[in-house]
Amino acid sequence: MKENMKQSDDNKFIPMTSFRSGKGSEVRNDVYYYTNQIVNVIMIGKPGSKDWVLVDAGMPKSGPEIQKVAEKRFGKGNKPAAIILTHGHFDHVGGIVHLINEWNSPVYAHHLETLYLTGEKKYPEPDSTVEGGLLAKISSVYPHEPINIKCALQELPEGGEVPQLPDWKWIHVPGHAPGQIALFRESDRTMIAADAFVTVKQDSFYKVLVQKTEVNGPPVYLTTNWERSHESVQKLEALKPEVAITGHGAAVEGEELSEGLENLSKNFRELAIPTHGEWVKDEDKA
Ligand SMILES: [Zn+2]
Ligand SMILES: [Zn+2]
Repeated sequence: MKENMKQSDDNKFIPMTSFRSGKGSEVRNDVYYYTNQIVNVIMIGKPGSKDWVLVDAGMPKSGPEIQKVAEKRFGKGNKPAAIILTHGHFDHVGGIVHLINEWNSPVYAHHLETLYLTGEKKYPEPDSTVEGGLLAKISSVYPHEPINIKCALQELPEGGEVPQLPDWKWIHVPGHAPGQIALFRESDRTMIAADAFVTVKQDSFYKVLVQKTEVNGPPVYLTTNWERSHESVQKLEALKPEVAITGHGAAVEGEELSEGLENLSKNFRELAIPTHGEWVKDEDKA
């Protein structure tokens, strides 16, 4: 175990699942996503490649499972050249300590997430009063104490370059989390959107289980700035992605993506912003 590194003090297995859990798909021959319970982890690199990159680290306690999936795709003992975290929410960093211990790969995140990844600051507690069904109601059980991966963490380079992925750029998409990033490859318009938008209405338990694919705003109970969230969706829409893997839900492409994203961007207030909640401001509703 590396010095001082730890998952959060309230880290625990969360018994949630979706119909994609345990499944993986390629959206490009070198872009694969795997659904761990309700969240996606992404592996960039062709099968067997010595140069691959992991994006995000799943739900609490998912480290061994992610490692197994990676071994199947890239071969035993073939560790990622880098791990990129789109943001530090518990459902995207749940297996990170295990993976760093196993692989010793450098981990990169936006500098505005650093405090949450070095044990210095916790995210606000999930807003369980927000409009939005059962998942918001049970969100108070989610871990929110900070993790500490200081020994492996590095800040993403400022110019948008992504370490180990020369064809990709990172894009700052705050709102859901202050230092959330998306990844984009211009050559084939492939996007990894993090939780800037997702393809499942996270707030309906039913839809998380069946995961009907539709472009939705960010998960409401952890989103603390709706104005920034809207700007982030507009920023991603302007890039005209052809295919997108979001933090939650199935990948989406073609017209379903372009129309869904355009609609969300234009009608963000009606479609994404809850009618009430701790972080919903009057001007968000105006
Ligand atoms: Zn999140
Ligand atoms: Zn998430």
